[in-house]
Amino acid sequence: MPHRVKSSHRSVGSREPTAIPLGKGRRERADAVVAGDGIVALAAALALRTALGEQARILVLGKPAPIAHEIDPRAYAIAGSARRLLEGLGVWPVLEADAQPMEHIFVTDSRLDDVVRPAFLSFLGDTHEPESGNTFAHMIEAKALRNALLGALNLARIETVPLRVHALIHESDDDRIVLRAESGEVIASALLVAADGARSTCRELAGISWIGWDYPQLGLTTTIAHEREHGARAYEHFLPGGPFAILPLKGRRSSIVWAEGKREAKRLLALDDREAFIEITRRFGHELGALRLEGRLIGYPLSFGIARAFTARRLALVGDAAHVIHPVAGQGLNLGLQDVAALADAVSEAAHLGLDPGNPFTLSAYQRARRFDTTAMAALTDGLVRLFSNDHLPLRALRDFGLSLVDRAPPVKRLLANRAAGRVRA
Ligand SMILES: Cc1cc2nc3c(=O)[nH]c(=O)nc-3n(C[C@H](O)[C@H](O)[C@H](O)COP(=O)(O)OP(=O)(O)OC[C@H]3O[C@@H](n4cnc5c(N)ncnc54)[C@H](O)[C@@H]3O)c2cc1C
Repeated sequence: MPHRVKSSHRSVGSREPTAIPLGKGRRERADAVVAGDGIVALAAALALRTALGEQARILVLGKPAPIAHEIDPRAYAIAGSARRLLEGLGVWPVLEADAQPMEHIFVTDSRLDDVVRPAFLSFLGDTHEPESGNTFAHMIEAKALRNALLGALNLARIETVPLRVHALIHESDDDRIVLRAESGEVIASALLVAADGARSTCRELAGISWIGWDYPQLGLTTTIAHEREHGARAYEHFLPGGPFAILPLKGRRSSIVWAEGKREAKRLLALDDREAFIEITRRFGHELGALRLEGRLIGYPLSFGIARAFTARRLALVGDAAHVIHPVAGQGLNLGLQDVAALADAVSEAAHLGLDPGNPFTLSAYQRARRFDTTAMAALTDGLVRLFSNDHLPLRALRDFGLSLVDRAPPVKRLLANRAAGRVRA
């Protein structure tokens, strides 16, 4: 996907943005309002600043603040397409020191107590983009990504307002969408970008329906420090309970993220540090020498969901508000950042034509650019989860055969690596 968000080459720090109080009873006006304070919301506000220019009034409704590693120990595999967006937003130079390139990937299909886990599929250094020489993904911790975006938000003079959308008011005037907060403030905006997560209030208020279900698994994650270098290697072990990924971070550290059946996951989350360490070591193996847990194990509910439409009148859904997928392929946030890039492209096109950012042509261009791609990726991830989260012997034999076939077919491997980097459509 082409990203036309131009780089501002600003050097950004990590200060928390200042919240602006809005006048009660007064009707505020904005060119674009972003509802939400997650990573996708912050990126969307910055991309809109680039697309709409310095004079545009952009508001973020939420409480964007730094998050401690103990609260959110997630680390994201940021694919090439998302990296290009972050470069365009001027935040990549700040992040680069914390971004660990992922050079090699090994995929195994094993049982928990298997002593040897042969790789059925491996990408050995063949994950580089031919144009930039960059590896197809970098691992970045949530805390670092959030801080870099918060610093840029401050410099971009984007107002943050600690309010939540409570109602969307329909007026006969079609050139604005009017939002009301619970405390009574009213904002009229040309565009509302709903980046308020999987349980999006804005999506519900706009009457957009949602197709989705919960997985019978929880996603578990923590950070491990290890004695030996990881050599920029990532592992995905498909264990019977669900996939277990070891992902390299800066220093002798790795992020682990895995899916486990709910009952087992709850048992693991209730263990004390010593018992949890023993369980994690069983899954992690001994290849990287002595291990140490950096922080607690944190669990997340896992679900699948996709909105029936990504737009409504003067409203665009982005990130988890539009789609939620299983973390098996590490693509949820990447999809959200691709939404942001596509929306910014469409809005920038509209601005060049003298159109306002929430006009119907721009919103349908955005939906056309994203809906097919996202549905394909969502279906692919759901298929992977179903195929690999079981211990059915004939199925294991069949999938291992499939993986080893892919391993021996360089064009198919290249296609998979390109797909994961967001360089081709599914
Ligand atoms: C264990 C795990 C590992 C993952 N690993 C990866 C990975 O490696 N790579 C990857 O690409 N993805 C990964 N993902 C997926 C990724 O975490 C999500 O896709 C991403 O965080 C979604 O970001 P978001 O900003 O859209 O939503 P959220 O992070 O949910 O943010 C939404 C925000 O909006 C706020 N909000 C809610 N309602 C309102 C309202 N009415 N008004 C204002 N604000 C509101 C919420 O408080 C929240 O802060 C992983 C997910 C899990 C669970």
